[in-house]
Amino acid sequence: MKNLALIYLAFALIVVTMPFVADAVIDKSDAFTVSVRFSDGVTEEIGIEEYVLRVLAAREGDITALEAKKAFAVAARSVGMYFATFGCKHSDFDCCDSGDCCIELASVAGASESTQNAVSETAGLYLETDNAPALALFTLCASSGTVQSDEFDYLVSVDSNVRCERHVTEIDFTDGEILDIFPEARDDMKFYAVYGESNKLSFAIVGGKQIDGAVISTALGLKSKEITITPTENGIKAISYGVGHGMGLDLCNSERLALDGVYYKKILEIYFPRLNLKGN
Ligand SMILES: [Zn+2]
Ligand SMILES: [Zn+2]
Repeated sequence: MKNLALIYLAFALIVVTMPFVADAVIDKSDAFTVSVRFSDGVTEEIGIEEYVLRVLAAREGDITALEAKKAFAVAARSVGMYFATFGCKHSDFDCCDSGDCCIELASVAGASESTQNAVSETAGLYLETDNAPALALFTLCASSGTVQSDEFDYLVSVDSNVRCERHVTEIDFTDGEILDIFPEARDDMKFYAVYGESNKLSFAIVGGKQIDGAVISTALGLKSKEITITPTENGIKAISYGVGHGMGLDLCNSERLALDGVYYKKILEIYFPRLNLKGN
C-alpha cells in the first residue's frame, strides 16, 4: 500500500513538473546541444556555448570591437538554439558547418581572447519570440542597410546611415562576357535595374527578361545584392557593396556602432526591435 502511494506521488510530481520542464530548458540555454555535421563527415553534439565560440571564430578578424562581438555572440547563440529546437534544412542533424548551407563554423582554437570574453560575458543570453529562440540571423556587411525577410517578420530593414567603404567589390565585364552569363542580353545590352529597400537590387530587366537581384549578384560573382551597374566603353562595370544576404545583425555596422560607444544590448535593440533578450 505504501509503495502504491509512492508511485502515485511520483506520478503526481511528474504531471505537476512537466509543464515547467520545457521552460527550464529554454531558460537554461547552456543545457542546449546542437548536432553538427562537420565537413569531414563526422556528426557531433556540441554545447551551445561551444557552438557560439565556433561561429565567432569563423569571423575572427572581421570584427574586433568587444561590444560588437557580444551582440554577435547573442545572435549566434539564438541561431544555434533555434537550430537545436526547430532544425534547419537537414533531417539527420541540426545544421552543418558550411557558410553556403547553414552557418560557417571554425575551430575553437581560432578564437581570440576578446572573442572568448564576448562569449563568456554573454553566456546564456539569447533572443526569443513567442517563448522560443529566434532565428536572429547575422550578415558580414549589409552596407547601406539590412533588408526585411519574407519568412521571418522579426528580421526587419535597418538603415546604416552610410554606405560601407570597406566591403566593395568591383568587376568589369565585356559585352561578350555578359552575353556568356546572360544570353538574354543578346537583343539589348542594357540592364534596367529596379532597387528595393537599403539600395538592394530587387531585379533587373536583361534583354526583356526579369532576373532576380540575388541571381544577378551570384551570376556576376558579386558578394551582395547592393549593386550598381554602369556602362563602360566595351561592356559594364558592376560594383557590389557589402557581403552576404543582408538580413539581421549587420556585423560591419555593429563594429562602427561599438566603436562609437554603443553598448551591445542597444545594438541588438537596433537590429532586432521585435525580439526579447532572455537568459541568465
Ligand atoms: Zn547545412
Ligand atoms: Zn562593410
